[in-house]
Amino acid sequence: METVVINITTEYEKALEKSAELLKNGEVVGIPTETVYGLAANALCENAVKKIFVAKGRPSDNPLIVHIAKFEDLAPLVKEIPEKVKVMADAFWPAPLTMIMEKSDRVSNVVSGNLPTVAVRMPKSDYARAIIESCGLPLAAPSANLSGSPSPTNAKYVYDDMNGRIPLIIDGGNCEIGVESTVISFAEEPPRLLRPGGVTLEEMTALIGEIVVDDAVLNKLEEGAVASSPGMKYKHYAPSADITIIKSDFDCFKNLCESEENITALCFDGEKEKLSCKSVTYGDENDGYSQSARLFDALRELDELGAKKVYARCPNTKGMGLAVYNRLIRAAGFKIKVI
Ligand code: AMP
Ligand code: MG
Repeated sequence: METVVINITTEYEKALEKSAELLKNGEVVGIPTETVYGLAANALCENAVKKIFVAKGRPSDNPLIVHIAKFEDLAPLVKEIPEKVKVMADAFWPAPLTMIMEKSDRVSNVVSGNLPTVAVRMPKSDYARAIIESCGLPLAAPSANLSGSPSPTNAKYVYDDMNGRIPLIIDGGNCEIGVESTVISFAEEPPRLLRPGGVTLEEMTALIGEIVVDDAVLNKLEEGAVASSPGMKYKHYAPSADITIIKSDFDCFKNLCESEENITALCFDGEKEKLSCKSVTYGDENDGYSQSARLFDALRELDELGAKKVYARCPNTKGMGLAVYNRLIRAAGFKIKVI
């Protein structure tokens, strides 16, 4: 299959027309969002959704997020809309925020991975919402990478993984947030944070009060444990390099990196110049958003450099830092060294 790429920033009408035509025909299209690129298909058509799992090589028990363009599109997908979801949607949507509720019968088990719930998001990206609106369908869309590799933050990375596997990629430039959406479940009370992302725990708690942070956000799931979010049990965001997170100040980090042979450092902006080993930067030490925007790119750069052993600076876990830490700790296979 030939994979066509259309740039929506320069060919807006053509991008919308072509993506709508394919999506209505039950095909899979790579689309830009503010978080990461998505592999989208008609969420109401089982055969279309199955093609996503094939293109991605995704295990079928890992459910997909359904993307909508307007709040009115939520009701048909769920049994009822909890009061807190209305408050959250009103305050944040469109946003990098996915909310889980009990699903309606219209949502197939193929989308929900056989769970009784469905995850729904209204993306902030104007391009993503325009694509949804122009085909007039809710779109199931996981990240547009092959299962197990880092989520793609630009169209080239989507092409690298999906060339020959899907008919169309819409190029909307670099993703602003750079990590996947916040996922929070309202199928239980108090609500449970399953994955941190661009809408922070602090912002949500200020609005709706108590939120339980699922163990898997910060810790490795025990062997055989049932994951609240099936995606959490799969290996994720893993570059080929062996990464260890180093919890220390910069001087100790520098000493460690320079005391061993062939270390590549994953460090903050401005630190590269102070290190004598090879290094890749991933944003400002005090700005979680600049870290999230860079992290997956930085992981891919480590692979391109042929890095074998990587020591990574540790982000703090406040605000957007929690989302960064959650991805980095998985990339590091949960290896942390405190010095
Ligand atoms: P991705 O599609 O790559 O952004 O991943 C979506 C994440 O949301 C995965 O970790 C899924 O396991 C999780 N997810 C989607 N739907 C549900 C659901 N109904 N219940 C729990 N987790 C879900
Ligand atoms: Mg993913």
